[in-house]
Amino acid sequence: MRIDVVTIFPDYLAPLDDAIVGRARRAGLIDLHVHDLRRWATGVHQAVDDSPYGGGPGMVMTPTVWGEALDAVRAAVPDDPGVLLVPTPAGAPLTQRRVAGWAEASRLTIACGRYEGIDGRVPVDAARRGPVEEFSLGDYVLAGGEVAALVVVEAVSRLVPGVLGNPASAELDSFSDGLLEAPAYTRPESWRELDVPPVLRSGDHGAVARWRRDRSLERTAAVRPDLLDRLVERLGATAFDRR
Ligand code: SAM
Repeated sequence: MRIDVVTIFPDYLAPLDDAIVGRARRAGLIDLHVHDLRRWATGVHQAVDDSPYGGGPGMVMTPTVWGEALDAVRAAVPDDPGVLLVPTPAGAPLTQRRVAGWAEASRLTIACGRYEGIDGRVPVDAARRGPVEEFSLGDYVLAGGEVAALVVVEAVSRLVPGVLGNPASAELDSFSDGLLEAPAYTRPESWRELDVPPVLRSGDHGAVARWRRDRSLERTAAVRPDLLDRLVERLGATAFDRR
């Protein structure tokens, strides 16, 4: 898979040389390119922003620079613009389901905004050349899209075949079945007067699976009841009584 990230802070993406993504890049599984948006800026100051129409505080990233940058980056692979991902607090939430869809694309481009964000015409224009998806990391506002790019690259990479040592671990992760995962334990059996649940040491695979399923349901109901609601909806149930 090829991933392009466009940003005014290319060094911010340095962690993508490390750990799982770094290994995937060295193994040739992820072909990652980080581009400095200012390469497409013109003028002495290489400005990438301007004051907002309609007034208000802050600056808006200019469409002329973003347009040139995205045209060039998306054209890097002939006939394959890939999916353009635009992080923004105004996007639909990032979910494992969306990440799994993106992991099947041949290429992704991530446009990192700064200041008050990117001019609203940029995603509209980009959609003329290929799919565009806006996404939000959550209901809070960051200073820029670089953290969101790090999140997406890592989340997508672990679903690319060959990246995880054991692909089964992604299949059992939280959200893959719509629920949060049960807690996990390792040696020692007893630690600071806390014991590993005996069923996990019983060797009874059926009992272990049931225990994990129960804890998973319990945890999801306590922390993320919205996930249970969604699961019930997906399963086609008509009513769900949480009492
Ligand atoms: N004025 C914008 C608004 O209120 O929607 C916020 C702009 S924010 C300061 C600058 C950039 O940070 C955005 O263009 C986006 O790239 C990124 N960003 C901030 N919060 C984010 C979030 N929750 N999810 C994804 N990206 C975010």
